[in-house]
Amino acid sequence: MTTLRFRSRPPTGLVQLRLPEVRFRFLDALWIQVTGTHCNIACRHCFISCGPKADQIPMMSAEEVEQTLEEGQTLGMRQVYFTGGEPFLHPDLRRIIRAALRLAPLTIVTNGLLLDDAAVAMILEESERTRYSLDLRVSLDGTTAEENDRVRGRGTFERVLETLRRLGRAGLSPVVVVVEHEGIVRTEARDRFQQFVRDLGIARPRVQFLPLFRNGREMRRTHGYHDLGLLASAPLLGEVESQLPCATGRAVTSQGVYTCPMLVEHGSARIGDRLPTSLHPIRLNWDTCQTCILDGMRSIN
Ligand code: SF4
Ligand code: SF4
Repeated sequence: MTTLRFRSRPPTGLVQLRLPEVRFRFLDALWIQVTGTHCNIACRHCFISCGPKADQIPMMSAEEVEQTLEEGQTLGMRQVYFTGGEPFLHPDLRRIIRAALRLAPLTIVTNGLLLDDAAVAMILEESERTRYSLDLRVSLDGTTAEENDRVRGRGTFERVLETLRRLGRAGLSPVVVVVEHEGIVRTEARDRFQQFVRDLGIARPRVQFLPLFRNGREMRRTHGYHDLGLLASAPLLGEVESQLPCATGRAVTSQGVYTCPMLVEHGSARIGDRLPTSLHPIRLNWDTCQTCILDGMRSIN
């Protein structure tokens, strides 16, 4: 549970909103939405409405990804994330992995369902030929099929477990990412998840909990946010501001640059055509920002 950390108590009722500003500090994380909204599944809690038929944000070409990486390097990026959708659907995945790993550590955020033996072997090979780290973040939203499949779809639990065992046999140690949907409470679940992942053969289990963002498809499930006034009236404490993902990162898609990966479907969060012109201060104009500030979404590294 994160404490509400405003300088003063936010107002209630109808107010003239003066939403907090976040200054851009430096380019720590460059998120590249390599497959747009294209995904092999359609999770009920997906905060971007991704799915097999979701084409609202098209896939990026390998050339677009490479150009973005070059811009990121010029701007001093420290690490790269490939997101989607599902990055393992990208037809030139190996090429763009190599392009990223020539410049910086890379993390691929995946649902894990396409990681067959060949994909795992490819990841192993690429991680052995680079001086930077190549990390996987694999989503698993419960330690039982009932918990996980409720939001990710029937049968996904067993398939992700197969992937985690396969990665464990290959000596790879992915970060298991758990979204805090109902029934998943961080404090109670951490030990349970650590042991669960260890039992799958991952020698050094790493588990990361993410708060539930109530936009995208998740908005239809839990009816979104209700009170933007919670963000109004007071500047953020410096330590809160500096730890927000949008203070040290940007999300690049085939349709431009966005404040962060959570808002790539919000036209108003599009803050530039290209990275070099997108590193300016922003105002937290989106109800989704409540989750970052109130539920503890800090830099997702
Ligand atoms: S949450 Fe991830 S795996 Fe699920 S539909 Fe969205 S992008 Fe795909
Ligand atoms: S959702 Fe979070 S990371 Fe994105 S702009 Fe709002 S506060 Fe920043």
